Amino acid sequence: MILKGAIFDMDGTVVDVSYDWVKIKAELMTEGKPILLYLQSLEEPDRSQKWKVLERYEHKATQKAKLKPGMHEFLDFLSARRIKKGLVTNNSRQNAAFLLRKFDLAFDCVISRESGLWKPSGAPILAALQELKLKKDECCVIGDSHFDIHAAAEAGIPHIFILSADKARFDGMEAEVFSSVEELQSRIEDLLKKEKR
Ligand SMILES: [Mg+2]
Repeated sequence: MILKGAIFDMDGTVVDVSYDWVKIKAELMTEGKPILLYLQSLEEPDRSQKWKVLERYEHKATQKAKLKPGMHEFLDFLSARRIKKGLVTNNSRQNAAFLLRKFDLAFDCVISRESGLWKPSGAPILAALQELKLKKDECCVIGDSHFDIHAAAEAGIPHIFILSADKARFDGMEAEVFSSVEELQSRIEDLLKKEKR
C-alpha cells in the first residue's frame, strides 16, 4: 500500500469538543436512530424545531472547541510528505469553516452534511476519495467513533485509525486505536517507511 491520502473526521478527531450525545438524543427523542437520519424523517414543524435544538448544541460546542494537541504538527507532517488531507464531518459547513479558520487549518477537500451524505454511511468517504482523486486502498481514515469505523469499512478503506483514550470501546472492531496524535503519527511514519523497502 502506498499512502496518498488521509481522510479525517472533525469533531473529537481534529478538534476536542464536548458533546453530551446521550443528553442531546434524549432531548430530541431519536429512539436510537442516528440523529441526522432521524431529523430527516420528521414532519414539519417538528423537523425544524428539532434541527434548531441540534444546531444550538453544535454552535455551543464549536465555539468551545480546542485543537487536538499535536494536530497542527501532524497535518504539516502529512503535507510535507505530499499526503492529501480530506475532512468528512456530519457537522455543518459553517461550523467546519469556523474551526478551519480559527485554527488555521487547510484540507484538500471538505465534505460536510450539506452534501446529504452522512456517516455512518460510507458515501461521504467515497465522495472525499473522488474529490481527492484517490483510490480507497491509497487512503486511511482517521476518526474517533464507531460511526467513523463503520463509514470507512463500508467505503472499503484498508487502514482505519481511531484517536481515543478509551481503547476498550473499540474492542473487536476493525481499527487501530491510538491515545495521542503523536502515537498515530509514529504509526504512519512506520507505514511510510515500509513503502520504501
Ligand atoms: Mg467524531
